[in-house]
Amino acid sequence: MSEKKAIITVDGPSGAGKSSISTLVAEKLNFTYLDTGAMYRAVGLKVHRSKIDEKNKKAMARLLDNLDLSLAPGGLETRVFLDGEEVSSAIRTPETAMIASRVSAIPAVRKKLTGLQKRLGRAGGIVAEGRDMGTVVFPEADYKFYLDASPDERAGRRVKQLRQNGAGDVNRDEILKQIIKRDQNDSARELSPLKPAKDATIIDSTKMKKDDVVKFILDRVNVV
Ligand code: C5P
Repeated sequence: MSEKKAIITVDGPSGAGKSSISTLVAEKLNFTYLDTGAMYRAVGLKVHRSKIDEKNKKAMARLLDNLDLSLAPGGLETRVFLDGEEVSSAIRTPETAMIASRVSAIPAVRKKLTGLQKRLGRAGGIVAEGRDMGTVVFPEADYKFYLDASPDERAGRRVKQLRQNGAGDVNRDEILKQIIKRDQNDSARELSPLKPAKDATIIDSTKMKKDDVVKFILDRVNVV
């Protein structure tokens, strides 16, 4: 048996509850939680702030070369630092989510972040959450889960989360529209589209409580 600790992947569409469930699973197992959506959001924020043309390959390459990104998992949400500045709140807005979804289709962005993610997961002992964890970044993962829920349920959960985070006026219909648009973007892109790995266990959490999903996952993983 190898000494390497296990890799657990949790993929799925936005608002399916991946972040909170992955955090809880990681906590129970004493594993590190890797929030890869936060990484795409941070790159989206950087692109947006720098006002460069996303189609300008040279400018994008320069921006990615100079990317200084670090994550500090812990608490309810991963803290994210971009070029020395904490951007944990700035990356959580619906606008940044849409920008992240757009820039995540750019090959250079995926290449850069996939490389970083593989490095962060090299030692194992992680719960990696995203869209392509089980398919592309960690195809060798020990346990793969694909977490889904109906778009309506996901919109409701997202609204609750945004309100808890202090977002004032949240329009549910607008959030539902954005979720559907992001699902389309993420599933239709050529590179690393959102889809379950062939060997993933699919969990439809529409009618499940968070704790039941966590238990379902923990019951299936056997780690020391
Ligand atoms: O999971 P989260 O909503 O934070 O992700 C933001 C966006 O980042 C997603 O809509 C998706 O386009 C992109 N993403 C991705 N691959 C990942 C994680 C996130 O393309 N592994």
